[in-house]
Amino acid sequence: MGRVDGKKAFITGGAQGLGEATARMLAREGAKVTVTDVNGAGAEAVAASINEEHGAGTAFAWQQDVTDEARWQEVLQAAHDAMGGLNVLVNNAGIGSLGSVEDENYDMFKKVQTVDVDSIFLGCKYAIPLMRAHGLGSIINISSIAGIIASGNYVSYNTAKAAVRHISKSIALHCAKGGQIRCNSVHPVFINTPILDRTKEMFGEEEALAKLGRQIPLGKVGEPDDIAYAVLYLASDESKLVTGIELKVDGGISAM
Ligand code: NAD
Repeated sequence: MGRVDGKKAFITGGAQGLGEATARMLAREGAKVTVTDVNGAGAEAVAASINEEHGAGTAFAWQQDVTDEARWQEVLQAAHDAMGGLNVLVNNAGIGSLGSVEDENYDMFKKVQTVDVDSIFLGCKYAIPLMRAHGLGSIINISSIAGIIASGNYVSYNTAKAAVRHISKSIALHCAKGGQIRCNSVHPVFINTPILDRTKEMFGEEEALAKLGRQIPLGKVGEPDDIAYAVLYLASDESKLVTGIELKVDGGISAM
């Protein structure tokens, strides 16, 4: 028995990194998965590889920009019809930007909010009605430890990821009324995915990972499955009494 046997899950930003690891994890544990990404070819490659491993009809893929309201409606309905329902939404797609309030330009500030926060509003708005028809449901929004701990040169990302934490609580309370759909946020510390490529280019891979690892009490950067396991728990009925929480997967950094 898999931990999410029979669940139907929709994962944004699934062409690489944490979204890909999450899609693979949920499929391994018995779910059908839909992988979407602005990089449609990347999403299709991940779905094809999951189907090779777990059998045709396990994974589906669509190109989707999570800032496009009409596309959300089309792709959620298509995924719902292809999988035969919808129980789990993982709002994972996100972007970062380095810059202080003086350095950051306003267009980039707005873009980060649109991709990281508006996407969650839109995804939840259109997924919840579809999820209601299919028993217990779970929404998992990928925030960041940067949504809890601020830094001077991360103004756009700090703002967006703090909003992800709070919108998740509002949605959790709204959904709690029916007793059926839960909503939680996950807060990763640095995890070794392509999002760290720029830092690796600047310092070299080994030094970049060591530098980031030194900031974390457990002494190392995380692996994508560290987050995929957290999502798995929240997606499964093991967490059926858990809603409105912020699950920190942060090597102890927020305990300091
Ligand atoms: P990543 O850059 O490796 O992958 C992000 C994916 O999102 C990419 O495939 C990209 O094409 C997609 N994407 C970007 N904009 C999109 C859009 N408008 N519409 C649809 N897809 C879009 O990043 P990752 O490390 O896998 O991060 C995934 C999530 O986890 C993000 O929300 C990120 O902020 C968060 N996070 C990551 C870390 C980390 O250190 N890796 C830490 C904390 C939080």
